[in-house]
Amino acid sequence: MEARAGLILDLRRQGIRDTRVLSAIERVPRRFFLTAKLQKHAYDNTALPIECGQTISQPTVVGMMTEALDVKPEHRVLEIGTGSGFQAAVLGHLAKEVYSVERYRTLADLARDRLSALKLKNVFVHFGDGMLGLPEHAPYDRIIVTAAADPIPQALMDQLADDGKLVAPVGHSGGIQELVLYEKTSNGLVKRNLGAVRFVPLLPGAASSL
Ligand code: SAH
Repeated sequence: MEARAGLILDLRRQGIRDTRVLSAIERVPRRFFLTAKLQKHAYDNTALPIECGQTISQPTVVGMMTEALDVKPEHRVLEIGTGSGFQAAVLGHLAKEVYSVERYRTLADLARDRLSALKLKNVFVHFGDGMLGLPEHAPYDRIIVTAAADPIPQALMDQLADDGKLVAPVGHSGGIQELVLYEKTSNGLVKRNLGAVRFVPLLPGAASSL
C-alpha cells in the first residue's frame, strides 16, 4: 500500500475519527516538509528532526490537536511554532485563514516557500516571538501552540475570541507535558486534559541566529 494512505489508516487506528481532519492530513504531502535525507521516513507515524534543531510533530499528535481544535471553515486560526509548516498546511485546508508565528527566520522562510509551492494562499507565516501572539490580526477563533510552555502566555489567552478554543502542550521541556484544551466561555475558561505529549520548549524572543 502507498505509505501515505497507510499513515491515514494508522491515524484512524490511533483514534482520530474526524473525517475532515483525516482528509486534511491526507492532502498535505509530509515529505515536502522534510530535508532530503529524511523524506524516506515522511509517512512513518513519528516525530522527525527539522532545521534549526527543531522537530516536526508526530502525525498522531497533529491529528489529536487538530481534532480537538474543532476548526470550522469560517475560522481564523493562530498557530505558535510554525516549525516545518506541516501543521499550518493541515489547518489551511480546514480554516478560512491561518496565521503562524515562528522564532527562527530560517524556518519561517522555508515554511513560507513550501506553503506557497502547495498554493495554500490562506496561510500566513510571521517571523517573531509567538509568546506575544500576533495582536495585529487578533482575535482568533482558534489558537494552537506547538511548543511547550508553563504557563500558557497570557497574551495568547487575551487574543482568543469569545467561544474560542486553544490547544497547547503545558509543562517543561524534558519533563511531563500535558496536552490541554481551553475553551473561552461566558463563564470563564474551561479546561480539559487530553493526554501526555512531548514537545520542544516555547522560548522567549525571536532567535538571534539562523
Ligand atoms: N508545528 C510544527 C512543529 C513545531 S516544533 C510543524 O508542524 O512542523 C516547535 C516550533 O516552535 C519550533 O520551530 C520552535 O522554533 C518554535 N518556537 C518556540 N518558541 C517560539 C516562540 N516564542 N515563538 C514562535 N515560535 C516558537
